[in-house]
This record gives sequence, structure tokens and C-alpha cells, in this order.
Amino acid sequence: MNKNDSSIMNFILEQNGCIAVDEPQDANVIIVNTCSVRSHAEKRALGYIATLKNWRKKGKRVLGVVGCMAERLADTLTKDFPHVDLILGPDSYRNIGTYIDDVYSRETKIIETTLSEETYCGIYPERSAVSCFVSIMRGCGNFCSYCVVPYVRGKARSRPTDDIIREIEMLVRSGVKDITLLGQNVNEYSFNNVHFADLLRMCANIPRVFRLRFLTSHPKDMNEALIKVVKEHDTICEWFHLPLQSGNTRILKLMNRQYTKDEYLSLVDKIKKTIPEATITTDIIAGFPTETDEEFQETISVMEKVKFDDAYMYCYSPREGTRAYGYPSLPEHIIKARLEQLIDFQNSVTIIRAREMIGRKYEVLFEGKAKNNATRGKTKGNKNIIIEKEITRGEVHQVVIREVRGRTPVGELIGIEKRSDHETCSTIY
Ligand code: SF4
Repeated sequence: MNKNDSSIMNFILEQNGCIAVDEPQDANVIIVNTCSVRSHAEKRALGYIATLKNWRKKGKRVLGVVGCMAERLADTLTKDFPHVDLILGPDSYRNIGTYIDDVYSRETKIIETTLSEETYCGIYPERSAVSCFVSIMRGCGNFCSYCVVPYVRGKARSRPTDDIIREIEMLVRSGVKDITLLGQNVNEYSFNNVHFADLLRMCANIPRVFRLRFLTSHPKDMNEALIKVVKEHDTICEWFHLPLQSGNTRILKLMNRQYTKDEYLSLVDKIKKTIPEATITTDIIAGFPTETDEEFQETISVMEKVKFDDAYMYCYSPREGTRAYGYPSLPEHIIKARLEQLIDFQNSVTIIRAREMIGRKYEVLFEGKAKNNATRGKTKGNKNIIIEKEITRGEVHQVVIREVRGRTPVGELIGIEKRSDHETCSTIY
């Protein structure tokens, strides 16, 4: 979400006459876009902002801090970081150019952290990448007990359908091949009676759309209608990112996740039965307050059953203002040991899942260079693969996986894919 917000700000700044430079020391304006989801991210951002004190002293310069941490810690930033000139919350980017001009010309400070209905409708950042994000909604009203997002990004609101379609049409025309529809919980998309499954179908039917993905889904809202839409459209990638967070129903209730372990497993079952080749990935929190060892082992057993292709795993991070902040934390060494166990377990499964790809054929969209003149690409199931050959970014090839190095499948070209409505060449290797 922050990457997408940075593209939006970049676009607005360019419209206001700013030119991006490669090195911070060459800039007159630095905007630090921040995340509040975990305390580690905030500490790193604060550390970086502190290092900009000397840069700020040299001449007429503007330092802005924006995003979720700016929303949450505006007072701290004002008090402890006087070299910061501009503090903007996630709904205040539309006027960022004017704010910078005001700070610059009037030598004043600006703090704007009002949350609103902003969806950045009508702003279509130019992108040169093969893959990019398109935000379809902002904010979240689910109030999972550990999560700061509803407090720093406001309530859920959906972007107008026609605005999303217009942006995708522009992206397709400019050569973007892999588009991820983005929202804190995309399954809650709703605009004038268009729900997420409808939106996905509409986007899949836009001429020359090549690949569509969506991120993130909430297990409580993912339904069969959506799984069916994914199955029915060749352009929609068979990748489901379905945050589990915990495999124990008591902990899930404490987290206010609104599904049980059995409901989660039954959802995974439906996906696997409908789309056997689907990739399923997840997020897991280690050491949520009061989690017993038996409850933690249930998470491992769910991982064993589902065999996630990959997982993002984190130590529980208490966030002030959330409901779980008041819960008694587990000792740090227990949280860390559980995280290590999760990571070790998932690594072994990820390698097994990668080895299952050996000998199978995949359509791979190549995205850029890897080490030693190799090229990295992505399957429809969001698996990163490597080819030991230089391939132009944006090309699509059929690839057979020959081996797995570390966790990464390494493949060999067997031809160049030709899918209708897309410009590809037909050389056979
Ligand atoms: S669904 Fe829960 S975890 Fe996800 S953004 Fe909303 S409150 Fe946070």
C-alpha cells in the first residue's frame, strides 16, 4: 500500500514541477513515507529521519514525513524532530505540492493528519514497470485487536469502479502486464452495488489485460463466488494470499479475526478443490499475548495441513491504542523461539513445494535481472523463478523447472508464449 502511495505522491510532485534525483544529497525536498504496522518499522523510520538533520541544515530544504507513522506520531515528530517541516497523514497527499510550496516560500511548518473519504480517484500515476499496483479501496474497519491500520488509515471506503477501470486501461496501454488490485481487505470492495467478485470479473474482461492479482483477502470474507471468478478467467492469477495469523480458534477470537480454525481450513479446501494448482500464501503472528505452547502447535499443524507455498511470519508487535495493547505480553525469548520454529517449518515446506515444480511447465513473465546474467520472472501463481539467460523485461515464456536452488526454482525456456490479444513473438527455443 505504501509503495502505491509513493507512486501517487511521485506523480503529484511531478505534476507540480518536481524532478526526482538519485541521491538524497542532491534533493531540495525529501519525503519519508512511513509504516506503523510494527514498531520495528517505526524505529527504522525515526532513525532515518534523525540522520536527515544535517541534510536539512544545508540551505533551503524541505523535509516531509508522511504515511501511517506521521498520522500516529505527529506530536512526537513535532516535538522531538524539529527539523521536520511537513507532516502528512495518508489522506493528505492530494495537496502535497501546494504544502511543499508553502513550507518552501513561507518557511512555515505544516501538519495535516485529518482522515477523510479520500481514495485518490482521478490520479493515475505513470508507471514504467512490468508489474504494478492499483488501489481499489483504502482504510479498514475490521479492528483486528493487534492492528493499527483502522486508526491510522481510517474506515474502509471503495474507489469508484469506473476510475479503477480507467486506470487499468491506461496501464495496459502503457505496457504493464501484471496488475495487483490492492486494498487492506479487497473482499470488502463495494461501490454502487459492485462487489469484489464483480469488479474482478469486469477488470478481467478489459481488452488486453494480461495478468490480474489481488491483495489482501480476509478469510472471513473470501467466498465461493470469488474463487469461481478466479477459476473462470485465464487472466486472473491463481494466487490466494490468505492471512491465517493463528491456527488456534481461541487466539483467533482474541485477535478479533472473525473466523475459526475449521472455517479457515474449509476455505482452503474449497480453493484447492476448485483450483488444484492454486498457490496459497499466508501471514502468521508468533507469540500473540496469552498463546500457550499447545495453541502455538495448532498453528504449526494448520501449516502442515495447508502446506502454504510461502508465508510472512512476524513476532507479535504491541501497538499502542489497539485492543491487544492491554493484553499481557509473552516473554520475548518465547516469542522469538516460536518465530524461529515457524520460519524453519515454513522454509522446509516452501522448498518441498518448489521441488514439486520440477519437470512442470509454467508461463513466466520476466521482470528483471538476477545475479550472474540470469533473469528473474514470475509464474501466475506468484512463484519467483530464475532462468540462466538474459531475457528482456516484459517477455513471457513457457518454462520447464529443472532444479531448485535454495528456495528458488530454476528453469529452462521451452518457447515463447502466445496468448491472444497480446503482442508476443513466436520464436521457439
Ligand atoms: S483486516 Fe485486520 S489486520 Fe487487516 S488491515 Fe484490517 S484491521 Fe488490520
